[in-house]
Parts: sequence; C-alpha cells; structure tokens
Amino acid sequence: MDFAFTPEDEAFRAELRGWLEEHLPDFRESETAGPAGGTALMSTMERRRAWQRRLNEGRWAAINWPSEWGGREATIMQNVIYSEEMARARAPGIYNANGIWQIGPMIIRWGTREQQERWLPGILSADDHWCQGFSEPEAGSDLANLRCSATADGDDYVLEGRKIWISTAHIAQWGLFLVRTDPTAIQRKAKHEGITALIVDMRVPGIECQPLRDITGDAMFNEVTFAEARVPAAYRLGDEGQGWQVAMGTLGHERVGTSGLSITLATELERLIATTRKHNPAALEDPSIKDRLARAWTQITLTRLLNYRALSKVLKGEKNWPEVPLAKLQWSSLSQTLAELGCDMLGPAGILARGGADAVDNGHWTHQYCWQRYTSIGAGTTEVQKNILADRAIQLPRH
Ligand SMILES: Cc1cc2nc3c(=O)[nH]c(=O)nc-3n(C[C@H](O)[C@H](O)[C@H](O)COP(=O)(O)OP(=O)(O)OC[C@H]3O[C@@H](n4cnc5c(N)ncnc54)[C@H](O)[C@@H]3O)c2cc1C
Repeated sequence: MDFAFTPEDEAFRAELRGWLEEHLPDFRESETAGPAGGTALMSTMERRRAWQRRLNEGRWAAINWPSEWGGREATIMQNVIYSEEMARARAPGIYNANGIWQIGPMIIRWGTREQQERWLPGILSADDHWCQGFSEPEAGSDLANLRCSATADGDDYVLEGRKIWISTAHIAQWGLFLVRTDPTAIQRKAKHEGITALIVDMRVPGIECQPLRDITGDAMFNEVTFAEARVPAAYRLGDEGQGWQVAMGTLGHERVGTSGLSITLATELERLIATTRKHNPAALEDPSIKDRLARAWTQITLTRLLNYRALSKVLKGEKNWPEVPLAKLQWSSLSQTLAELGCDMLGPAGILARGGADAVDNGHWTHQYCWQRYTSIGAGTTEVQKNILADRAIQLPRH
C-alpha cells in the first residue's frame, strides 16, 4: 500500500465529519426500527428521503456530480473518505441511491442538455424516486441475454416483456431500463449489441408492478410487466443499440466508494458484542463463540486492507484487480457470518422477530440473518465472482 491523505483530503474529511456531527443525530435511528412488513419499508423510505434532502442542503448528497448540478466533483480519495465517514457515523441510506450513484452519472455522461435539466434536479432533491430495470427471468448473471423488447413506432418505442427483482419499482416515478431494440442480435450471437437504455415513466398505461415478498417478509422488489407501454423516443439515453456501454458505465459507479463497508462490518461486530453483553453475557464466555468472533474480526481487518490495496493500485494507475472481486466475496461472506453470529450469541430473545415486544434490538439480527442472503446474489453472485477469479486471476484450466 502506498498512499497518504493530502491536506485537501483531510480538510474534506474534517468538513464532512463536522457537518455530520451537526446534522446526523436526528436521523441516527435503527434502519430496522418500526413494525414489520410494508409499513416498515415505507417509513424507512420516508426517513431516507428526509435524510437525502438534508444531505443535499449541505451539498453532500451527490459528491461525484459536477458542481453545476449540485455535486463536488469528488476524487477517488474523497469517495473513500466519504464512504468511511458515513459508515463511521452510522448514517442511514438515502432515498435515491440508484439515482445518485448510478443513473444520475449516466444522465450526466450520456444525456442531452434537455434530459439533464429535466431529470437531474428531481433525483438530487429526492422529489422523484428512481428504479433500475435490468434483470429479467432469463437475464441475471447473464444480463446481455435480456429480451424485453422495444419496437420503434412513430415518436415512441412500444415495450413488451418482463423484468424481475426490480427494487422499489412500485414506488418509483421513473426507471432506467435496458431493453432489446434489435432482436436479431441474440441469433447473431452478438447479444451485447442491440440493447438500448430507456428512461421510463413508471405511471404510463401498460406497466404493471407486482411486488415480490422476500424472506424478510418485506416486499421491496418487483416483477415489472410491459404490455404495449409507450415510451417517447426522446427518453432514450445514448444512441439506439448503445445500451450496454451506457449500463457498464453505470455499474462501474457501483464499485466506487465501497471501502466504508469494512467499517460498517466492524461497527456491526462491536454492536453485537455490546448487545450480547447486555442480553446474554454467558455467550461471551463460550470458547467456540470467542473463536468465531476473533476470526470475524481478523477477516474484517483483512477486508479493509484489501480495499486499501485496491485503492493504492488505482492511485498508481494500475487495475484494482483482483482485490475488488475478492473484497466483494469477503463482504458477502462476512455480512452473513455476522448475522449468524448474532442469532447464535443473543440467545432465545435474539431470534424474536421485528415487531415483537421482547425482540432484542427490534429483531435486527433475525432480520439480518434473512436479508444478508442478498449479498451473495447482488452486484455479481458469489459463483460468478469465483469463476472470474479462477479464470483470470488464478488461470485455472477450463473444462
Ligand atoms: C435484494 C436484491 C435487489 C435487486 N435489485 C435489482 C434491481 O433493482 N434491478 C435489477 O435489474 N436487478 C436487481 N436484482 C437482481 C440481481 O441483479 C440478480 O439477482 C443477479 O444479477 C443474479 O441474477 P439471477 O437472480 O437471475 O440469478 P442467476 O444468474 O440465474 O443465477 C442463479 C444461480 O446460478 C449461479 N450461476 C449463474 N451463472 C453461473 C455461471 N456461469 N457459473 C456458475 N454459477 C452460475 C448463480 O451464482 C446463482 O447461484 C436484485 C437482486 C436482489 C437479491
């Protein structure tokens, strides 16, 4: 590792830390507080909306955006600091995470001036909620296999087909969707071609969102069906057939600023130990629990160092490889390990679910036990990440 924070970076950190100390306390409440089910999702979203608005007042909502659009044009190092400080302060999530980190930058990169003026302010102010519609029943890990079609008809595209697992589509006003405008591309074995990025008004006729209940009991993601839904061609981002390039730029943004995750994990571990001390202190004397705690702590430290090594490489102009997929694997396995530890350490009250009168931490650990399964699916499944590492990093022979 080879980097140092410059005086400008330290000033950035001090400004953010000071701002958080002043503005965060009203919002620092457990994400899983409140009742179970759909009501919990809506109250969380409202709290996130208020938090994003507060951040925006301080110009802290979209640090990577150009200053012209309310951002700070943050450097990589400032992204790392931002992620670390937010994790350290236990700041809640924001209302429009997709919009701020992925879709907004895409509109800035590929959109016309008119499109930028139309959509960026609403993303930033949290007036509009956005969803991201990529996955389909037969296009998840193999995203380029997507078949949801958009056929040009006058000044519109007509959409037909199904998307699945689209987070918060049922409460979104707008969505960024990848659709197939050239169905021959799949037959030509050029499936990355013929994909187009369209901005979709989620309230037009012909769009149905069916929330899907997940194992936590919440219904956060949706199946979205298009049946002759019309989208103006003026809502296309980039050229027709350019959707893959547009989307890959977007996913690239997903990988920025994740270094705070190891701090979040460390904070979770400390919280677990403190809660166990209060509710089930005998567990802390159990040698097997002590062993698991020590292993978890060691792995969290390793993950932090992996992130720093990736950062050091980027700063030297090298590829952050293979540290980034390794850190993703670490993050998913550790998130699940901590949730399992939580349920094992807290005793019977620790497995009472959210909403129960005697639930410890309002059922945080049982919720985590179910919810953290997503970390080995989202942002590249564990199996696919391991394939990539086996192939490109270890160069194992292919069968
Ligand atoms: C909480 C959550 C929120 C989500 N939100 C969104 C959203 O807002 N928008 C959106 O577009 N999508 C969203 N997704 C979908 C997500 O992107 C997909 O679930 C992910 O890409 C995996 O695709 P899949 O579910 O179709 O699984 P598949 O790709 O079908 O995989 C099924 C299993 O097969 C394995 N597998 C697949 N290919 C290989 C291979 N080549 N070698 C070995 N094993 C393989 C996988 O690892 C997995 O275990 C969300 C998912 C989750 C869990």
